[in-house]
Parts: sequence; C-alpha cells; structure tokens
Amino acid sequence: MQNAIVVLNAGSSSIKFSLFVERGDSLEPNVRGLFEGIGTAARFVMKAPDGSVKAEKSWPEENKLSHEEAFDFIVGHLRSELADNRLIGIGHRVVHGGSVYTRPIRVDQESLKVLDTFSPLAPLHQPHNLLPIRRAMERMPDLPQVACFDTSFHRTQPEVAQMYGLPADLREAGIMRYGFHGLSYEYIASMLPEIDPKAAQGRTIVLHLGNGASMCALLGGQSLAATMGFTAVEGLPMGTRSGSLDPGIILHLIDRHNMDARRIEKLLYKESGLLGISGISSDMRTLLTNDDPRARLAVAYFLYRIRRELGSLAAALGGLDALVFTAGIGENSPAIRSGVCRDAAWLGVEMDEQANVEGRRRISSDSSRVAVYVLPTNEEVMIARHTRRLLNN
Ligand code: AMP
Repeated sequence: MQNAIVVLNAGSSSIKFSLFVERGDSLEPNVRGLFEGIGTAARFVMKAPDGSVKAEKSWPEENKLSHEEAFDFIVGHLRSELADNRLIGIGHRVVHGGSVYTRPIRVDQESLKVLDTFSPLAPLHQPHNLLPIRRAMERMPDLPQVACFDTSFHRTQPEVAQMYGLPADLREAGIMRYGFHGLSYEYIASMLPEIDPKAAQGRTIVLHLGNGASMCALLGGQSLAATMGFTAVEGLPMGTRSGSLDPGIILHLIDRHNMDARRIEKLLYKESGLLGISGISSDMRTLLTNDDPRARLAVAYFLYRIRRELGSLAAALGGLDALVFTAGIGENSPAIRSGVCRDAAWLGVEMDEQANVEGRRRISSDSSRVAVYVLPTNEEVMIARHTRRLLNN
C-alpha cells in the first residue's frame, strides 16, 4: 500500500484536481482532471497521465451543480482510483496567505477563520479556494487538509520590495505587496539546481506568462521582487486584467465616470488587458494570428511592459544570469519569447532562434551571456510535495 495525495485547485466555476501516489522519494501523477461549468452547464473529465480519458460526464444547463456537489463527485471518482493506496491528505491551492502564512499549513477551524479574513484581499479567488476545504473538513473530519499559498514564496523579499509609499498605519492594516504565482515560481526554483546550478545560485528572472501573467526575480532561488503586488492585477497586462495603472485613473473613474468599486473591479479584472486593448480576444493565440491593428497593438503593449519590468527586476537583482519562460504563453509561443529576448539584448540575452522554434529546453545561443530556458510549470506537484512534507513531519 502506497501513500496518495489529492490536489485541488478551485476557482469560481471550476475545480482542477489531481491524484499523486508516493513511489519512494517521488510523487507520481496518477489521474488528473477538471470539473468546469459549476453553476451553469457542468462538465467533468478525468484523464490518465498519458492524456487518455478515464471518465467524463456532462450535465444539462437546467441541472446546475453547486461547488459542494462538484466536490463530492470528484472525491467519489478519486476514491475509486485509489485502489489499495492510502489517502493521507488533500492539498489545496489557496491564493492568499496574508503576511501571516509564510509556508503551507494544515488547516483547522481556527486557521480557516483567519483565511476567511483574507477574502476581501482576493475576492475573486479566496472564497472559492476555501469552499472545498470546508466541505472536506465536514465530510472527512479525520483527513488532513493542507493549504498552499500563492503568496508565501514572496515573503523572503526585502522589506522595501514588500511595501508601498503609504502611511505606516495602512501597511499595518495589510496594504502591502504580497506577490502571487508563488507556487509556480517555487516549482521553477526547485528545478533550477539540476538544470543550471550557476543560475540557481545566482540571478534569474522567471516570466510566468499565462492568462494571468507576472514576473519574479530570484536570487539564489528565493523571491527578491515580483511584478504582482497587493492584488493579482498589478504589473503586466494580462488576458483580461489591466496590469499597473496610475492610481489617479481610479480617482478619475470615480469622479468623472460615475464608477463605483464593483464597476471598476469588473473593468480592471475582466474587461482590460489583451481583451480590452484589442476588443477581439484575451487569447494570445488568437491575437498572434490576427492582422487587425488593435490585435497587433495588444501584443506590442504586452511585450513593451515585459521589457520595462525586465529592466526593473534586473536592476533589483543587480544583473542577470538566466531567464525562464513558463505558463501557457511562455511555454508555447516562440513569437513572444523571441520578442522578449530581442528586447533584452542589452542585458546580454542572445537567442538561438532554431532552438526557440523547436521548443527546446535551452533556447539561448552558446555565446549568450544570459542563459534562457523554457520550463513547463507544475503548481500541482508543488502542492503535493508541500502536503507530503507537512504530513510526514
Ligand atoms: P495559462 O493561463 O497558463 O493556461 O495560459 C493561457 C494562455 O496561453 C492563453 O492566452 C493562450 O492563448 C496562451 N497560449 C497557449 N498556447 C499558445 C501558443 N501556442 N501560442 C501563443 N499563446 C498560447
């Protein structure tokens, strides 16, 4: 009998899940899948590691399912996949750990209350992340539930990197730079020693370019600075998020455009970024194959802001040894990688175009002063590792 760990990543209308089984020192993926369309037309699919479908089911729109029902359905299926392995706990992705949780925790009623208090800091994610934890604690009170935070990894940053130029009492009230995508950066940092020991000990900038996009400066594998701050809207423009703005714009929207907080929230999170600029799509693939000048402008702005942030993060590091591209756009778009590297030539980045187009792991030329890599991220395995470590201690 082997130990097994379930990993859940719950969003507003979907739950991603995976099952890992311990084999010696490693955690092997067993099945993974997605329950989407919660509250609308629900769909469940579960796949084997080779991508073959092991189970699927769809529900008509009239038959809406709740988060709780989706959770119960997933757990039911995972139980049948466990075979004779022993489930030791569930690891959950939780976006916000505030300034309190600098590492994963085993959740109890007390810490669940604390996590609830972070919901106003991440209203679009935190409440959904907490739902399956609550349900699991009701249904399986003896099974450990572990929360892994997107913010924890950034708590190694120096104080100046974690603050804003606001009065001290506001900082004490929690208005600070938390940083996000921490599980992704931590996974990449864990891969570096094997791939490039010099970069692992030195100065690396990781570009997590997906529908959500951010960048992180790693010094010796620890977070030194990042583009996302108080919320996951700061920094780069994203699929539908604006990225950094002059805060004066918010005041102007309130004063002159009669917008209230909810309207501005929708504007900044759902209607801006690549979608807002192009008026066409939030999807980078669509924009890269569209000749419309607005699509080109959206891509140009994305690249321009990466160029600016790269300079800023390289300055925080005092130089650069390696760049790492990851997430949907970073892992799959030679055109974006090529644009970023061209803009970073002044930092000593020289790309091997052939390697880039072929999607090799190392895409810099032999003479490049800065090594450039494409590494698939894996937040799920990071959560499974944390869960195992915590429960084994
Ligand atoms: P993620 O949030 O990490 O799943 O990334 C989603 C983003 O990756 C979307 O904007 C996709 O358009 C983009 N993406 C996926 N494949 C490609 C590709 N081959 N070329 C460009 N963008 C891609």
